[in-house]
Amino acid sequence: MIKKLFLYVLLAVVLLSAVLVINTFTKTSAQMRVEAKPAPEITASALQHFKEALTFKTISHGDRNQFDSAQFLGFRNFLERAYPNFHAKTTREIVNGYTLLYTWKGKNPALKPIVLMAHQDVVPIEEGTESLWTVDPFAGEIRDGFIWGRGTTDDKINLISLLEAAEKLMQNNFQPEQTIYFSFGHDEEVGGSGAIAVAALLKERGVEAEFVMDEGGIITSNQIPGITKPVALWVLPKKDSCLSDCRWKRQAGTVLCQHQKPPLIFLQTQS
Ligand SMILES: [Zn+2]
Repeated sequence: MIKKLFLYVLLAVVLLSAVLVINTFTKTSAQMRVEAKPAPEITASALQHFKEALTFKTISHGDRNQFDSAQFLGFRNFLERAYPNFHAKTTREIVNGYTLLYTWKGKNPALKPIVLMAHQDVVPIEEGTESLWTVDPFAGEIRDGFIWGRGTTDDKINLISLLEAAEKLMQNNFQPEQTIYFSFGHDEEVGGSGAIAVAALLKERGVEAEFVMDEGGIITSNQIPGITKPVALWVLPKKDSCLSDCRWKRQAGTVLCQHQKPPLIFLQTQS
């Protein structure tokens, strides 16, 4: 009996090994080969818009009393001036006082919409470190080939990039197939009440997004031991785990969340 069992196990091992060997030599990688697109042209006006965006002190303070509404209103007016087509072709809602929710209607109402997010606010300059800055953190100065200032990476670059892309598409009379929501929170750095309110609003309206895209990591070099190529960090939370990790899940109950624990992290090197 034991001998027979041993033979079965042996047969199973031999079969499994054979399958693995055959697969090793016959299967090719399922990794998609995607041709890199050429980097888009950065126009003088796009650069100017970005620099100007950095000049607004849309700071989120730990102490809410320090909130400077004039800076946020100024930033809102600047966006209206800089992106006229965008403001003509979308509807804008002001949520929770300063968060901006734009809706760009798609051609096909049967398709689920997508939500693109960014935030207007930046963190303050840490007290006592002002003199350590060699540039004005709110001037958008270009020095040595870099643009300096609060919000250059977190997160005005994201907000301005979305608007530049949409404005350009609108200039060419492009209309997306699916509706696109642009949600620009005003207090992401201190809890994200604006994003919570947007999530609640969309939920109330029965909006179910195809996907939500928020800010991501940056491409860095020599930050990870053993990898010398530039590396981009991709954080891909699954919809369900995003929900379970989302800190305002019970309040909002949608996938519009930030600062969730990412269950999946991919590192992608540039070839
Ligand atoms: Zn951010």
